Amino acid sequence: MKDKNLKTDSRRQFIKKISTGGILAASGLALGSLSSCKEKSAEKTAVLTADGKLVQVPNSEIEEMERLNPGAPPLEARKGIPGKKFVMVVDLSRCRNARKCVASCDKHHDLTPERPYIKVLEMKDNKSSSPYWMPKKCFHCDNPPCVKVCPVGATFKRSDGIVLIDNTRCIGCRFCMAACPYSARVFNWGAPPEGKLDIPYSPETSLPSRKGTVAKCDFCPNMLREDKLPHCVTACPNGVIYFGNEIEDTVTNGEETVRFSTLLKDKAGYRYMEDLGTKPRVYYLPPVNRLFPFEEGKEKPEES
Ligand code: SF4
Repeated sequence: MKDKNLKTDSRRQFIKKISTGGILAASGLALGSLSSCKEKSAEKTAVLTADGKLVQVPNSEIEEMERLNPGAPPLEARKGIPGKKFVMVVDLSRCRNARKCVASCDKHHDLTPERPYIKVLEMKDNKSSSPYWMPKKCFHCDNPPCVKVCPVGATFKRSDGIVLIDNTRCIGCRFCMAACPYSARVFNWGAPPEGKLDIPYSPETSLPSRKGTVAKCDFCPNMLREDKLPHCVTACPNGVIYFGNEIEDTVTNGEETVRFSTLLKDKAGYRYMEDLGTKPRVYYLPPVNRLFPFEEGKEKPEES
């Protein structure tokens, strides 16, 4: 299962598109009208704007969009997907900081590089050991301190193991950010991207983001509802990230499907700062027998 990323083009920046339930936000252009009023000429297409005007757009400025599940509305999003207990396993021996996971996550959550949900940290266990890369995001802890401190119930733990945030409830107090021992949460200080998308809000996509609220990795539950993998998993060219259902004891990186328990046992899987008692649902496999030398593919490293 591979991510079908659409190519981006800086020349097309005036059309801002995000793939969410067939809705296109394009500087006032509405996709619904695109399909109903399309009169293609050799070079231009007629498009109905959100305020009812018919305009022509150069075909070169139009891209086909991905059609993704828009995610459940806030109340429904509080229920987990039945029969699932999602887990992630990150194989540190395969990571070379290609940063495709970061790019895909940023793209699908409309994030700016300053506030990513995934950070790739440069790690070093001791003075004499070799450094390695460690992708880090929300661990969707089973005992999440962030959820306990929220005064308005904006952040919650679902039956399928996913921890989400309802930004329609979040008051921006940032208690959850302070409580998270992994610094997994970010704060939406304002535009961009706040306010750019004219779509119904869903905690399952974290879109559209809201100024003055907290956000983080959501495990892409809108994708999971369609039995698809999170974007970071499919975007990784090296099969670093495995994802699956603990109840079925199965995880996959899109190419290889393995027993979750066997993978942890055979490769000495562990959880980051496990002694805190947070019970993360993200496991790591140690960086032994590495696929790549540390330097290879190194770009834009982040400090641990
Ligand atoms: Fe909460 Fe942080 Fe655990 Fe995510 S990693 S569930 S934000 S405590």
